[in-house]
Amino acid sequence: MSGICTIMDVPFNNLSMTEAVGITLINLKERKKTIIYTPNPEMVMAAQKDRELMQVLNSADLLIPDGIGVVKASKFYHNPIKERVAGCDLIEEVFARVKTTVNTVYFLGGAEGVAEKAKQKMQRKYRGLTISGTHHGYFKDGSPEEREVIDEINRLNPEILLVGLGFPRQEKWIAKHRDKLNSIIIMGVGGSFDILSGNTKRAPEFYRNHGLEWFYRLITQPTRFKRMLVLPVFLVRAIGERIGAKIEFNGDKVSIKRANSKKRKRSSGSSKSTNNREGNRERTPRRTKGSK
Ligand code: UDP
Repeated sequence: MSGICTIMDVPFNNLSMTEAVGITLINLKERKKTIIYTPNPEMVMAAQKDRELMQVLNSADLLIPDGIGVVKASKFYHNPIKERVAGCDLIEEVFARVKTTVNTVYFLGGAEGVAEKAKQKMQRKYRGLTISGTHHGYFKDGSPEEREVIDEINRLNPEILLVGLGFPRQEKWIAKHRDKLNSIIIMGVGGSFDILSGNTKRAPEFYRNHGLEWFYRLITQPTRFKRMLVLPVFLVRAIGERIGAKIEFNGDKVSIKRANSKKRKRSSGSSKSTNNREGNRERTPRRTKGSK
């Protein structure tokens, strides 16, 4: 078992891609409901200010680090994360393995037509894969349309439900509806349908292999520049937390305080962590099966 690496109160599962795929498939086979989120530095930073998001992340069964920034920051922590497991890659690895089974998939999210296009593409790429339904992600929370979407998902009864409503909407949406949804694996996938549909180009291998996917996204989608400014702030805060300092940025002012010792202990990846996910420890097969 590879354990947990807690960075700024977000407890990441320290898994390789192979392990993440393995756990997903085991849980699918054993019909164990598994909620998967893939936080990146932006999401970790947002959770510092958004208590609900922090609680939602802590209630997940698997938190996979989708962001090289998280992996780099973890090097300063106990139990550093082995590798980045991009949500998009995890999805395709799972598709490649479930295509010959009876498992079905539903795509929820993206602009009108995008999930449908992604479905066509994935079914062509992974012959035998059954994507039983799709729906765009621009329905209103609490609307009749939302109820219809949930009813449709339950009627089609897909084992895997991928939700790409952007963060933090998708994580909060999944947490709110998880008990109503019959699916076994429910995963927040961000903009993955844009990529799976071919509408957005994935970074070439060179960028991915060198941890530079963020840079490729920056040069191809410069409008993301402001969102990406959070990355250096995240790294500084994460390293600060590790050395016992709470570093905050407020406009052009930087304040450095002593972090409280209880929190520091938790960030070291101690197994005595009191966060909610400890309560899930027994529920997650990764922690009881195939332990290293
Ligand atoms: N989206 C959606 N409903 C919303 C807001 C966003 O379906 O109310 C979709 C949007 O079309 C896009 C994805 O969520 O496909 C968010 O993409 P982004 O690249 O911002 O997410 P990231 O991958 O960075 O988390």
